Amino acid sequence: MTKSKVYMINTNELKMGDSLIDRLEKLWNHTDVKLVEWIKKGEIVAIKTHFGSRNQTRHLRSMYIRKIVDLVHSAGGIPWVVEGVGLGWDSGNPELTMSNGPGFINLANRHGFSTGTMNAPVVMGDGIVGTEVFHVQNDKGKYIKNVAMAMGLRTADKVIIVSRFKGHDGAGFGGALKQLGIGCVGNEGKGGAHWGGGRNIYVKHPENCTGCGNCLRICPYGCLSLDENNRIVFDPTNCIACTMCFSKCHHEKNLEKERVFAAKRRIPNVEQVERMMDNAGGVMKGISPDRIRFINIAIDITSHCDCMSAGGSILVPDQGIFYSPDPVAIDQACVDQVTKARGVPMSPAETGIDSPSGRIEPIFDAMEPDEPKLGLFSRFVDPESRPIITETQLAAAVAQGIGSREYELIDITQ
Ligand code: SF4
Ligand code: SF4
Repeated sequence: MTKSKVYMINTNELKMGDSLIDRLEKLWNHTDVKLVEWIKKGEIVAIKTHFGSRNQTRHLRSMYIRKIVDLVHSAGGIPWVVEGVGLGWDSGNPELTMSNGPGFINLANRHGFSTGTMNAPVVMGDGIVGTEVFHVQNDKGKYIKNVAMAMGLRTADKVIIVSRFKGHDGAGFGGALKQLGIGCVGNEGKGGAHWGGGRNIYVKHPENCTGCGNCLRICPYGCLSLDENNRIVFDPTNCIACTMCFSKCHHEKNLEKERVFAAKRRIPNVEQVERMMDNAGGVMKGISPDRIRFINIAIDITSHCDCMSAGGSILVPDQGIFYSPDPVAIDQACVDQVTKARGVPMSPAETGIDSPSGRIEPIFDAMEPDEPKLGLFSRFVDPESRPIITETQLAAAVAQGIGSREYELIDITQ
């Protein structure tokens, strides 16, 4: 089998004039990578990243994205910086939330991603409430066969997915594949991956409904109405689990624990990850492999996702920048690099992981749910899924036919 090529820039001997940002340019122009030639004059180039949730301190810093914007400009392309609307949990802060377009753009500005700082438009790829999607038939999907990819990515001429590689609270790790399976789909796809669609959304505290009607207006499928007592009524038939109703319900009780809406988390993490890879397969088909490239920036490696406001402690030293046209190979390479790295002294990698080798274990099955220990994935992964979660994500991606776990790692730092 032919090995996919993964190029890397390491973090050795960084110095003034030769920072990781400078080295990003070296990667871009390298004769084997040729990103500068891949982009044609006048092409719209979507740069997909994650802006981080409110007060997240480990998401990818905006200066990396600005550098990529500059490089796209210099290649003659027309860059725009893209994110997608997130699920509606942060309802207590509607003006700075991932769960609606305006709130997420506000949040992006606060985190340094603005049209001014980026020198490119900063746009939600799936619209104001995550419903602007293009449906792709994915016959290889185990659970999701109709993938709701972000319309903005469908329409771009080229797409560059830029991820901070890290552990992940539910998926074992987060990199290029998770961007494809969650970051590049609308809320229908996110809800489908997290909760299996609408069957797990329910009205938990109808007594807290004030009858304001906010959620009725935002529900994309008309699932909500008010009864004769002005209390919320939910018909799950067409619900896509987008959680926009969560985000719109600003009743004061919702700022506490007794939210009107709730989601039962009943899907094992393994199924969530397989659903995520169903989405990834659809997105790759919807974009097509020749139009998409992947950059993983393996720095600030924590066990938390960019959407967790708790940034988390850094587990292993920065590993560098990775590039590949193959989303499976690039993530496999990053998993391998992180797995063999030494843990940062006094970090949870050293103090919280019972590893005789002193190395990060991607599979950490000795961890108890209530232990304050962190692995490459966090304690949020359900116990049954922990031993196989990293393997599941990579194997499910291969089953989608979107890449290879066999790779050749080429260090081009010099
Ligand atoms: S009820 Fe409507 S707004 Fe709420 S999750 Fe379902 S589809 Fe989304
Ligand atoms: S937004 Fe909340 S309070 Fe308003 S109608 Fe919907 S459930 Fe009731």
